[in-house]
Amino acid sequence: MIIIGAGAAGLAAGIYGVRSGLRTLVLEEKIAGGTMADAPLVENYPGFQSISGMELAQKMVAHCRKAGVKIHELESVTGLELNSEKKIVKTNKGVYEASAVIIASGSHYREIGVPGEKEFRGKGVSYCGICDAPLFKGKRVIVVGGGNSALITTLYLADLTSEVKIAHRRDAFRAEEALVRGLETKKNVEILWNTEVKEIKGEKLVNKVILFNNKTGETRELPVDGVFVQIGEAPNSQLAKEAGVNVNDEGYVKVDIFQRTNILGVYAAGDVTNHPVKQVGTAVGQGITAALEAYGFIRRPYYKR
Ligand code: NAP
Repeated sequence: MIIIGAGAAGLAAGIYGVRSGLRTLVLEEKIAGGTMADAPLVENYPGFQSISGMELAQKMVAHCRKAGVKIHELESVTGLELNSEKKIVKTNKGVYEASAVIIASGSHYREIGVPGEKEFRGKGVSYCGICDAPLFKGKRVIVVGGGNSALITTLYLADLTSEVKIAHRRDAFRAEEALVRGLETKKNVEILWNTEVKEIKGEKLVNKVILFNNKTGETRELPVDGVFVQIGEAPNSQLAKEAGVNVNDEGYVKVDIFQRTNILGVYAAGDVTNHPVKQVGTAVGQGITAALEAYGFIRRPYYKR
């Protein structure tokens, strides 16, 4: 069995794959852990009241390796042939054959798409609070977004930076209530409601943003050293789509409750799927379901629904 992606879904699938007796390989284009590792703090994964995303990811990776799962890091999938009985997975390092494939390739950060965003990426524009926050110690930053990611990143940055503005295009957050209450405890956080970042400017590094208030129509400049874009994610489903896997209008892989895609022997789990909830816990559950279904498909071909 080949699992594409070593995030929460892929790692959970790996553990269940080897425990079912399947030779299980996880291919990961970056470092194992997935986007979970970028979360400054995870406080809703049962069994861990409060743990950094990185630590939780490391625990899952260690568990997986100890169980006997092979994890190939820095090996990216470049092509998939999924329509015959033997599935072919091509990577930058080789070609593999598998009886079943689980797509657990996750998602990538969405961009706001304004002038300066691409130009200043890595020069003040960031998509990952935990990765880049230390670079902004004592500085002024702005976070864009109004969901869980934006608020978690804001809370994290508030402890390190001198001031954090959070720009949200509406007048209410869509984040969990506990996070919204958390913001109220931070003296150096200011919420800019109905506010859109229209442009990111600077010289070598970011030094200001142009803000537009969509209620008053006012445009103004705000000096900042960093811009954290936290407006959600988009699925890494392009290769699967090219190989004939059905995706929805937003590109998420369509699965049934057994994590089956439209192609026999091909499953998907985690953030890449059209499952409405994107949480570590749900990704783990989907990875487990996918692995057990793949096991049934490989070992008991008569087992069909
Ligand atoms: P999200 O819930 O989809 O929220 C994205 C936010 O960005 C929304 O407030 C949205 O505004 C705003 N936005 C989208 N496009 C924008 C644009 N072009 N310009 C400005 N603002 C824009 O994304 P998320 O916060 O990354 O969370 C993704 C999923 O992961 C969610 O299911 C979330 O619950 C989950 N998650 C969970 C946790 C946790 O529980 N610990 C942590 C992180 C993420 P509107 O409100 O106007 O649409």
